[in-house]
Amino acid sequence: MNEAGTNEPFLGQLLGDNPYFSAGFGLMALGAGLTVARRGFLQASQLTRRWLICDLEIASKDASYDWFLDFMAKQQRNRHSEASKMSKPSFLGRILKPQTRSFAVETTYKQHANGSITASFELVPGPGRHLVKWNDAYILMTRERSERLMDNSRNKPFETLKLQTLYTHKYVFNEMLKAAQQSAQQRQSGKTVMYTSLGPEWRQFGLPRRKRSLDSVILASGVKERLLGDIESFLDSQKWYSDRGVPYRRGYLLYGPPGSGKTSVIQALAGELDYNICILNLAEVTLTDDRLNHLLNNVPPRSFLLLEDVDSAFNEARKKNAEFGSGVTFSGLLNSLDGVTSAEERIVFMTTNHPERLDPALIRPGRVDFKALIDNATPNQVKNMFQQFYGPEYAEEFVELVLKRNIPVSTAQLQGLFIFHKGDPKGAIASFESITE
Ligand code: ADP
Repeated sequence: MNEAGTNEPFLGQLLGDNPYFSAGFGLMALGAGLTVARRGFLQASQLTRRWLICDLEIASKDASYDWFLDFMAKQQRNRHSEASKMSKPSFLGRILKPQTRSFAVETTYKQHANGSITASFELVPGPGRHLVKWNDAYILMTRERSERLMDNSRNKPFETLKLQTLYTHKYVFNEMLKAAQQSAQQRQSGKTVMYTSLGPEWRQFGLPRRKRSLDSVILASGVKERLLGDIESFLDSQKWYSDRGVPYRRGYLLYGPPGSGKTSVIQALAGELDYNICILNLAEVTLTDDRLNHLLNNVPPRSFLLLEDVDSAFNEARKKNAEFGSGVTFSGLLNSLDGVTSAEERIVFMTTNHPERLDPALIRPGRVDFKALIDNATPNQVKNMFQQFYGPEYAEEFVELVLKRNIPVSTAQLQGLFIFHKGDPKGAIASFESITE
């Protein structure tokens, strides 16, 4: 019993009578209730979000990343040009219209046959959020750039594209990716894609180039045909190679003076067979044996590997001093060429102006299976080159002039002369002497 004569404990009585305590207790209960309600609401909204919304993430390391950005830029351009044809939308319509408001510039360089380089740029959706519409679906696209991680293959910060849409519209991701891939393929159809090495990866160099036709390359009679026939027969013989356990690869060495058409014929063969070209500069300073091996084992599908001027990368002086130039050693190159890790086909072209400087080990059968001399112009080539620029008139006269002077002339020199005297065969004849200077 307490002093008041009730059975209630003293503390309970004291607190029960205290208005401050009752109010505090009430507030505490209210706060706890609100916290539980908030958490419940968050969880419920997360669940609903997870249930209603689906995401797709594309990392910049993936090939579809660039396709997708280009594709979105193209969509945006199309929408702009369509919108400009239509009547002006209302104020509300303008605000609600899904459109990209922040852009990033992507510049590509293109090297022309005459060596000049032009740049073109494209506006792609920049980092941030963009609301886009695809058919009937709205998609929230977020482009994020990492502040810490570098994507070494692109030499740029690592990026991700996140797409979000309603779960009921999840099919649009597949549709959009397919359309992006088709658009990338369309850009490349009828073109040859050139790749160059960037760190351990192959990266597209410039825009895809228009295919070079085999007819535009004028070689001594039968050389083009023999080359093309050999590659075609190799491509038809995969089973023959696998039945005999022989690595499915073929090496070609094109040798001869500069400007005779070695690179041009490789480009034309690639165009004819619908192949792309991966150009590797063995003298590149950052190249190491490991990188070379990785690159050679990861050549993009349907691509020729082109090692230009192999003599300058591995001449006698260079072999004695493996530290000079790039970090690739001669034995590293041989090992990479012989690499057994890849079961895929491999077609390697090497070009040189000085075949006599090549180590026999580099061009032994298995590494080089087909050698072709691509020489200075024969009288027949001179005639064909002349006709290609001016037609048959004066062709014989020009050939006689070249024969009379009896000096070696490369097809590149002839091309230079004919371009200089565009549409003027007589001017070309009169200036022939100048190309020997
Ligand atoms: P190479 O690789 O033998 O040094 P290129 O193929 O790079 O020579 O030729 C250099 C330039 O000369 C190119 O613009 C090419 O169009 C032209 N050219 C050289 N040889 C030929 C040829 N045989 N037929 C047509 N064009 C040629």
